[in-house]
Amino acid sequence: MTTVRSTFDTTLLESEERRALREAVGTLGRRYGRAYFTAAVRDGKHTDALWQEAGGLGYLGVNLPEEYGGGGGGMAELSIVLEELGAAGCPLLLLIVSPAICGTVIARFGTAEQKQRWLPGLADGSLRMAFGITEPEAGSNSHRITTTARRDPATGGWLLTGRKVFISGVDIADATLVVGRTEDARTGKLKPCLFIVERETPGFEYRQIEMELSAPEKQFQLFLDDVALPAEALVGDEDAGLLQLFAGLNPERIMTAAFSVGMGRYALATAVDYARTRQVWKEPIGSHQAIAHPLAQAHIELELARLMMQKAAYLYDAGDDMGAGEAANMAKYAAAEAGARAVDQAVHTLGGNGLTAEYGLASMLTASRVGRIAPVSREMILNFVSHYTLGLPKSY
Ligand SMILES: Cc1cc2nc3c(=O)[nH]c(=O)nc-3n(C[C@H](O)[C@H](O)[C@H](O)COP(=O)(O)OP(=O)(O)OC[C@H]3O[C@@H](n4cnc5c(N)ncnc54)[C@H](O)[C@@H]3O)c2cc1C
Repeated sequence: MTTVRSTFDTTLLESEERRALREAVGTLGRRYGRAYFTAAVRDGKHTDALWQEAGGLGYLGVNLPEEYGGGGGGMAELSIVLEELGAAGCPLLLLIVSPAICGTVIARFGTAEQKQRWLPGLADGSLRMAFGITEPEAGSNSHRITTTARRDPATGGWLLTGRKVFISGVDIADATLVVGRTEDARTGKLKPCLFIVERETPGFEYRQIEMELSAPEKQFQLFLDDVALPAEALVGDEDAGLLQLFAGLNPERIMTAAFSVGMGRYALATAVDYARTRQVWKEPIGSHQAIAHPLAQAHIELELARLMMQKAAYLYDAGDDMGAGEAANMAKYAAAEAGARAVDQAVHTLGGNGLTAEYGLASMLTASRVGRIAPVSREMILNFVSHYTLGLPKSY
């Protein structure tokens, strides 16, 4: 497949090092390719071989600290990894969760023991961690989550009770970073807290949700009823849960943008290749502006979304959590819209072949919608921009 030329083919915008990373990850992704990914989905398998190889090459932990086996980079580097794997047809959803959310939170706020226990494995891919915040009753309103942790006076540990829904990759994750609440001893109010719950913890139950989604990573419901956790399961400081949570949510949005941009690029490149050669009148279909313009538009929108993603990563890596929050939301929004439109247009460009298993584009229609819903829906981002950026009043 021809690669669609990118305005990022310039070292002024991206350092030699990052371009080399882009190139190397792209080469790895193309070696596996779309066929590997779709075969894994079809056969109900996971994409472990690619995950392990990417981990061994240091790509999964590019954002994690060097002293724990990571690459010492940031979200700029990790988003390149996901974008390039996606552009090669292999978007690894768990990159959003394991190294980006969980790795970041543990690296920034975990105890020395937690860092030692988890970071080297998250970096080399030998350990994976899922992330659970969404609850059936709370949905987009995460202030309403009710998963609660009580101190267990008998052990000094915690008893965690609650329900979660749509949690990705629980079956292949060694642990799930669960967002719960503890009672503030002074005010009695519930405040958010993060707990590492290892998969084999007695009482930690999960059930797969049948999704109409063509992806190797599955979604699960979690059932926790007084699940006993050791005191060390709490990440960082009980009083700084909200800050710690936000530290993980910005990387999540940046990485979801990378997921959408990568997928959009793959679909666009497939469509462009097809439009160059498919001929039913005297010229290839790509010469008709009804076909060419929407593809050009998709390319522009993907490039713009990527620029915003780069801005968000730059701000986040520079330590500006607030500025990064706004940019990460905008990047996630823009990338999800651009990705979904690129996939839609790609399917249309291929005519009947857009719906064949051979070209494998139709299955991306649902996958490309994920970015519009998760981790935060497009409406909630529009709400955020309306209130926070534009200062408009709130309706809810
Ligand atoms: C494939 C997939 C993977 C996921 N992986 C994870 C994961 O690993 N971990 C995790 O914790 N969660 C995960 N999620 C959950 C995801 O974050 C939620 O689906 C998302 O936050 C939306 O919540 P909801 O589905 O309950 O929708 P709801 O909150 O019920 O919203 C439904 C609709 O109403 C709209 N809406 C709601 N409130 C407002 C409002 N105030 N103004 C305007 N519109 C509004 C929404 O935009 C949406 O369109 C995943 C979801 C999917 C689909």
